[in-house]
Amino acid sequence: MLTDDAIRANLSAVRSRIELASANSGRDPRDLRLLLATKTIPAHRITVAVEAGVRLIGENRVQELAEKDDALRTLPCERHFIGHLQTNKVNHVLKYVSCVQSLDRIELADRLQRRLEDLDQTIDVLLQVNTSGEASKFGVSPDDALRLAREASRRDRLRVRGLMTIGLPATDPELVRPSYRDLSNVGDRIRDARLDRVEMTTLSMGMSGDLDIAIAEGATMVRVGSAVFGARPHPVQTGA
Ligand SMILES: *Cc1c(COP(=O)(O)O)cnc(C)c1O
Repeated sequence: MLTDDAIRANLSAVRSRIELASANSGRDPRDLRLLLATKTIPAHRITVAVEAGVRLIGENRVQELAEKDDALRTLPCERHFIGHLQTNKVNHVLKYVSCVQSLDRIELADRLQRRLEDLDQTIDVLLQVNTSGEASKFGVSPDDALRLAREASRRDRLRVRGLMTIGLPATDPELVRPSYRDLSNVGDRIRDARLDRVEMTTLSMGMSGDLDIAIAEGATMVRVGSAVFGARPHPVQTGA
């Protein structure tokens, strides 16, 4: 169990990594958003991070969003959904998050559209792309991403803001670089298609082990869990 001080120190180390990686690739660190991945982390520890300046967290499970909602709802902190979203959870997830980063199929786009029509709302989404080719990972293949973007574009309650990918869990972070480069290329192709309601301003890629490489490859948002909160006690599927 990490102390509050350790969480604050880890957070500041992560911020330094972001600044260094930005400087090394000639980028402005203000163009990088830090999302804390908070699966399994109790609300009081998330609160410590928010008090230390974190403004965006990501949860993988609707159940956890619901459980932590009382504590987190009033914090000055945006919440995104970053896990695999089952179609039957759509109604619930919309109560808690301003963005679903894991839009990976037309059926899910349809369900979101229908529910949002009922609520008379819109929502930001990212298209989740499987750049590692692992069968265990959710996400549309890079070749199918443009088609999914077109389908999402036809659903007027969805605001596509960019792409998300989960890199290979590699011991050598260099092995993940081609995945991140791929995501950036997919983003360029979709941008060139100039679809209605589709922007490619967000590339959500990079985690604790490889955020530096993701930043070099054009990430605009990194998703960090263990580097701030410590190793998770049990293996948790990363949105897969
Ligand atoms: C857990 C998780 C992360 C963060 O992983 P760490 O290696 O702990 O930094 C990022 N993205 C997703 C989708 C996750 O589930």
